[in-house]
Amino acid sequence: MSKERPSLSSSLCHTPPRPSSSLCHTPPLPSSPFSSTVLTSASIKRSLMTDKNRYRVQPNPSKRATAACWKVFGVPAMSTDDDPTKYEILPGFVSCKTCLDTYKYIDSSTGNLNNHRCCRESSPDQSSIASFLHLPRSTNSNKLISKRKEEIKQLCAKWVAGSMRSFQIVTDRGLKDSIQACLDIGREFRSETRVHVEDLLPSDRTVIGWRISNEILSKRL
Ligand SMILES: [Zn+2]
Repeated sequence: MSKERPSLSSSLCHTPPRPSSSLCHTPPLPSSPFSSTVLTSASIKRSLMTDKNRYRVQPNPSKRATAACWKVFGVPAMSTDDDPTKYEILPGFVSCKTCLDTYKYIDSSTGNLNNHRCCRESSPDQSSIASFLHLPRSTNSNKLISKRKEEIKQLCAKWVAGSMRSFQIVTDRGLKDSIQACLDIGREFRSETRVHVEDLLPSDRTVIGWRISNEILSKRL
């Protein structure tokens, strides 16, 4: 399995996708009408989820896209204003056909795509770790999970009481998604790099700025 990670590691071929690139099997469509619009993975995923008439995930048209992950991933596309039956690919992104998670795809590395949960589920034999994940949990694993769960319970109780939060916050979908993303990131890095929470967690100002820019973007779209 490749250890390359998007955006974090350099690769042989990390220039933005161009049709003339022979090394990259990036979805072609450089002359997109969306190049002037700021698209993000999150905004595309949201559009795919909420506007199924205009947005869809279609197979990567590149003949070089033969890796197993392309059974799970495709390219996001948007219907054109002139002809709603005609779809234009949003270049530089790939989306999971199942959960619609969308990633920037600028270096033609499928390493990160293979780490995506739906890829792992679709090909459990791809790596020993992936197949291990699909084995029934051993007693030891269950014991370890119970121990960790106890730790998390105490941390949640401390957080809710100490910061005077609602008890229901522990069932919040956004909190669960954020923690799951952190667990996935932890698995991606394994023991190679120690990632600190400050490396990942945005500041409140960043979140506010991101929300505002996405609200503007959703109005434009
Ligand atoms: Zn998925």
